[in-house]
Amino acid sequence: MNDTTAESVYLDRISRVRKEMTRTGVDALILSLGHDLPYLTGYLAMPLERLTLLVVPRDGQVSLIIPKLEAPRVRAMPSVFTLVPWNETEDPVLIAHQLLGSARTIAVGDQMWSRFLVDLLLHRADNHFVRSVVVMEALRSRKDNAEIAALIAAGAAADRVAAQLHAGDIPLVGRAEAEVSADISARLIAEGHQKVNFAIVAAGENAASPHHHAGDRIIRHGEIVLCDFGGTMNGYCSDITRCVHIGEPPADIAAAYAVLMQAQAAGVAAGAVGTSCENVDSVTRAIIDAAGYGEYFVHRTGHGIGMEEHEDPYMVSGNITPIAAGHAYSVEPGIYVPGKWGMRLEDIVVATENGPQAVNHANHALVVLDR
Ligand code: ZN
Ligand code: ZN
Ligand code: ZN
Repeated sequence: MNDTTAESVYLDRISRVRKEMTRTGVDALILSLGHDLPYLTGYLAMPLERLTLLVVPRDGQVSLIIPKLEAPRVRAMPSVFTLVPWNETEDPVLIAHQLLGSARTIAVGDQMWSRFLVDLLLHRADNHFVRSVVVMEALRSRKDNAEIAALIAAGAAADRVAAQLHAGDIPLVGRAEAEVSADISARLIAEGHQKVNFAIVAAGENAASPHHHAGDRIIRHGEIVLCDFGGTMNGYCSDITRCVHIGEPPADIAAAYAVLMQAQAAGVAAGAVGTSCENVDSVTRAIIDAAGYGEYFVHRTGHGIGMEEHEDPYMVSGNITPIAAGHAYSVEPGIYVPGKWGMRLEDIVVATENGPQAVNHANHALVVLDR
């Protein structure tokens, strides 16, 4: 991935991290694997046995400790962090210990290998360690403008694949679900994603299983086909679900789909700043319940999305977190009748002060195809 994000974006994030560190009494933040590191530096570390570690003191120089042989993969941004490459014979944990200086409360990323953390603890037995979510959660869940732009671009690319599906460019009848899944995956890449995260294709009764794995089941005329796909584009994820019907849908499917469409649109519209996450879930569920399909809606309404396909905030009963500007999440109610058929409709939404903004705009109807 070629990171073209302006250095000022990373400087702004570092300064907001430091405000959170001050607020929460954290003296230093250390991040190894996982997505907090690219959020602050643009660099996603490979899960190696050699230590990569970003050290963010509350004041002073930010340092990225990195195996010398990995250093060429890092985009140098001297105004954001100093690169500290270590040789094969050096001890990177000792380097981290020295950079941490007199820090007392240290926030640690969830995905730092224990072999390194345990060694660091030997040097700093008197320190207090907390999880990095203490400082990172508020930042990561509220997307800044650069992140929202990336989510919109990824969503538009996924929409183009959905439009190809709706246009009949992706033949369905007579092909295995897995072949169609591979076809959709190739199109996600062709439309600009660097990586495909999943491409669920579920025909007929298979669509009743929300996370069905596309298999050798051959798609037939007269069936509903559920397609839920997404990938990563310039570091940010797309995720969309559309269903098509091959031939005119029978009355029961058409009726259920009308309810699903209404519930999904109401869920998107419900995402005003200040409303609770669980309210988005209740809004879709109330409509599906009232129409008599409540027992067939077996999962939460949505999940947060960003650098990770599933992250905070979750649109689920019990999550009273108020929606804030910059929250990005899916609204994806579904109706699944076991053994018969299933359907789901999903868009990504970004909350703004002016109301919820859908990232996806592909046709929401149950498009009828003939092949
Ligand atoms: Zn899912
Ligand atoms: Zn999805
Ligand atoms: Zn989703």
